[in-house]
Amino acid sequence: MAAEAGGAAGKRRIMCVGLVCLDIISVVKDFPAEDSDTRCLSQRWQRGGNASNSCTVLSLLGAPCSFMGSLAPGPAADFIAADFQRRGVDTAHVAWHPRGDVPCACCLVNATSGSRTIVLHDTNLPDVTARHFERVDLSQYKWIHFEARNAAEQSAMLERVERHNRAAAPGRRVFISKDLAQHFGYLSAPEALQGLRGRIQPGATLICAWAEKGADALGPDGELVHSDAFPPETLVDTLGAGDTFNAAVIFALAEGRTLQDALTFGCRIAGRKCGIQGFDGIV
Ligand code: ADP
Repeated sequence: MAAEAGGAAGKRRIMCVGLVCLDIISVVKDFPAEDSDTRCLSQRWQRGGNASNSCTVLSLLGAPCSFMGSLAPGPAADFIAADFQRRGVDTAHVAWHPRGDVPCACCLVNATSGSRTIVLHDTNLPDVTARHFERVDLSQYKWIHFEARNAAEQSAMLERVERHNRAAAPGRRVFISKDLAQHFGYLSAPEALQGLRGRIQPGATLICAWAEKGADALGPDGELVHSDAFPPETLVDTLGAGDTFNAAVIFALAEGRTLQDALTFGCRIAGRKCGIQGFDGIV
């Protein structure tokens, strides 16, 4: 979900609200069989979580950005906070909880196919609430992206953004992932857009990425746009491809580019991401 926050001129930031977790990634040559004991090609810790990954990509694209989400002190949070800093992502609005565990995902990236298999322990660390969000000075942000999580609190946050935007009343941009669309029973991005078009606000834009099929979107006037994927020479790591796509589309739309341009840019940057391990080298 995304909402444009109008406000003072100047270099306003893009904020992503959602999950940050620790990704422990093993890069394997072949996907292991259950109950086997094998070696991997390499292993790394990476800051993960959808909103957090999108911040990484926004930063690499050169957009000042902020992450808002929950952390609890400990070695995982130390690693995460240092990595946010390294990437120049502002964390002033991170909600630090005195107790709790930072979510952690064990990820297998198959270097032969590029597939990523994720097992997330989404711990009981509470998500940020509308009360936390009250402290955000909306005039400092030109775009706020919400990774859909705690619906009741997030709708209160969106209402606040809408009140702030009264004068401009720009439409919402909703991103739906392939995984969620498939969960709803849709077999392609165009099918998902058709099926969901009645469920979004009038004037909203619906955007759906679909791996090697690229991405499709439904604009505010009902127009359909499509971009093919830009497959890299070799697919090596698709972990965070969707987050990369979202960040690049947000970046382009926030610059005032057309929906078609933004979709194509999103697929181009996401395609590059799929050809490298991690995020360094996408621009
Ligand atoms: P995720 O599963 O991470 O939510 P997707 O798999 O839908 O995201 O991919 C998001 C974008 O990344 C796609 O729109 C496409 O541009 C690019 N992408 C992902 N997988 C591939 C692939 N196998 N080949 C080319 N591009 C891909």
